[in-house]
Amino acid sequence: MKDPTDTRDIGPRVGSPLWIHLTAVVAAGAAVFGIALWRLSGIGALLRYPLFWIVVAMVVLGDLWPIVTPGRSNTDAPVASVAFCFGALVVWGLPVALLLSGTSTVVTQLARRKAPHRAAFNAAAVTLGMAAGGGTLYALCGRLASPVHWWVPQGGDIWRILVAGAAGFAVHYVLVTVAIALHSREPVLRMLSRMLPYVAMANAVLYATAPLVAVAIGTKSALLVLLFIFPLGAIYANAAISLQREHQANHDELTGLPNRKLLMLRLDSTLAQATSSGRKAGFLLLDLDRGLKEVNDTLGHAVGDRLLRLVAHRLTHSIRPGDLVARLGGDEFAVLLPSVKEATAAREVAARLRAAVAEPIRLEGMSFVIEVSIGIAMFPDDASSGELLMQRADVAMYLAKQRRSGVERYVPDLDRNSPARLALFGELRRGLDRAELELHYQPKVYLADGRPVGVEALVRWRHPVRGMLAPDDFIPIVQQSYLMREVTAYVIETALAQAALWHQSGLDVQISVNVSGRDLLDTGLADLVAQGLARHRLPPEAMLIEIDERVLTSEPAHSAATAEALAALGVGLSLDDFGTGYSNLVRLKRLPVSEVKVDSSFVSRLLDSPDDEVVVKSILDLAAALGIRSVAEGVESADVATALLRMGCVAGQGFYFGKPMNAMSATAWLTEHCAADIVRMT
Ligand code: C2E
Ligand code: MG
Ligand code: MG
Repeated sequence: MKDPTDTRDIGPRVGSPLWIHLTAVVAAGAAVFGIALWRLSGIGALLRYPLFWIVVAMVVLGDLWPIVTPGRSNTDAPVASVAFCFGALVVWGLPVALLLSGTSTVVTQLARRKAPHRAAFNAAAVTLGMAAGGGTLYALCGRLASPVHWWVPQGGDIWRILVAGAAGFAVHYVLVTVAIALHSREPVLRMLSRMLPYVAMANAVLYATAPLVAVAIGTKSALLVLLFIFPLGAIYANAAISLQREHQANHDELTGLPNRKLLMLRLDSTLAQATSSGRKAGFLLLDLDRGLKEVNDTLGHAVGDRLLRLVAHRLTHSIRPGDLVARLGGDEFAVLLPSVKEATAAREVAARLRAAVAEPIRLEGMSFVIEVSIGIAMFPDDASSGELLMQRADVAMYLAKQRRSGVERYVPDLDRNSPARLALFGELRRGLDRAELELHYQPKVYLADGRPVGVEALVRWRHPVRGMLAPDDFIPIVQQSYLMREVTAYVIETALAQAALWHQSGLDVQISVNVSGRDLLDTGLADLVAQGLARHRLPPEAMLIEIDERVLTSEPAHSAATAEALAALGVGLSLDDFGTGYSNLVRLKRLPVSEVKVDSSFVSRLLDSPDDEVVVKSILDLAAALGIRSVAEGVESADVATALLRMGCVAGQGFYFGKPMNAMSATAWLTEHCAADIVRMT
């Protein structure tokens, strides 16, 4: 069905400025074309030259195949036929050139199914441009070429041809750009100056080729004219390479879908259009719940990649033309619906997408079912900008995951994001791009002899205005957004790169990284860690993942699965802030935990509060009984360290042993403390 708001191929309103412009150009073009045909004589003489037909072929091919470069459409792309038409104009005169350019333009425009009024306008604009060029040439040289009296330019004529070319270009440029400006309702002068640099540069090359073409035609050698295929081919190849580069920068390599960058661009333009037309737009954020991990684990990543491509295929085939599917990374996809009536329609699309993805997939003889959680946000009802829309769809998606309901629409009541928080997301997005996050490292030591056990990586944000921000200033907020995944990916990568450097210089320290509850809902976390370890050639024991005890107790189902996947890699798990989450013994025994960190709130009051002493003692006993390493956090004095050792605590972390330090200071610290004996973790 034709979209009623799409006015592209319907002619302009009669009497409108655009209509007047188009009509005037077409009328003038037709008149000039008519006169030229009437003046055309001796064309029969040309028809028997193979050379003539080669020029015809070059003109038609050039028109059919515009030189499209990144960010340019077919419409404003330069055409190589300009060089040949103008060359023909010089040698055979204006009527022949007009016959060539006018006919070729009409034929190619109609072949591309352009509306007749557009084809007529384009042909007329080309005709008038050529006529202006021919007129200028005549004024400068005072002679007329014809099919019978060829004019082969000499060296001194070249500048005249170039000036004539510039005149021809200028007329064509003004006629076409005025039409575009009137069509898009942009101020004409602004449009003329905005488009000029690119269009002029591209056409300068082609018009400058015209004198060469003229000389080549003058030699009557078909081969010489054919040789132009090579320099022109180089121009096409160049344009194709830049197009390909642009495609790569805007698309996901694995699935070929648009990536986040392109999605954001499209989102901005879609919202602008929706605003001006008063329409609604829908935004869907999709995240796979299960399926991908099973495939990766059982059949390997190559098959996992195939699965992702299949999901991409199913998604793209479940939407209408005009809708956009993008891959945001990992197992996260987005769907943009530029025009939806109501949220119910977006819900229907979501249900359709879920059903399409949920069809069992057979891979290597095994059957897999993929489930996906989808969050919906509507423009303008739920958000007024692209970034906000994405954010809100994310809140809804998270809700769908937590409720295991599959699809949820954004509900403001359940969103704890204030405008200040949302501003922070924007800043963090840029902060990530500008590498403003950094890791500091705090040592953990054996209480018995002070040997290093490992270091904990703690993230900091060097905010350009607010200075160094501690994780508590942003992680709790970021945790509720899709940015958490990127922060965690950054932290894991940076920590592993640092660990690899230390390992290379003989410092075999284990590095701990904190992950949030949100990360544990991400089925791709274990893969991320596995790939990172492989890339940095580190054994799994080189890394420990710290999980807040409360996360495991409050969101057991998905989190436990991710925790188990990490443990299966051989990466240790550490229960952070232990004592605050009321874990029961059974859970602790069941989970593959290798370390328990006694929360600093108990440790700091150890010497003052008998109750806290009891709590710490029982945690330490529990850990010892289960064969799990105990680490006390927040050790600030020698007295506390001694008391902990007496109570059976294995290791300690705190300002008493060392504050979190930047990479350089941490390296110096480790070099000093590992010097006595190189430590290997058990
Ligand atoms: P945490 O994992 O319990 O980290 C220990 C925190 O205690 C660190 O605070 C550390 O600087 C602080 N600390 C260490 N020794 C002492 C001491 O003797 N006395 C006192 N009063 N504090 C001490 P920091 O760096 O501000 O980190 C706070 C929390 O932010 C961390 O608690 C962790 O839960 C979270 N976090 C840090 N980095 C990351 C990260 O990369 N990702 C995630 N998801 N969370 C992170
Ligand atoms: Mg920690
Ligand atoms: Mg802690």
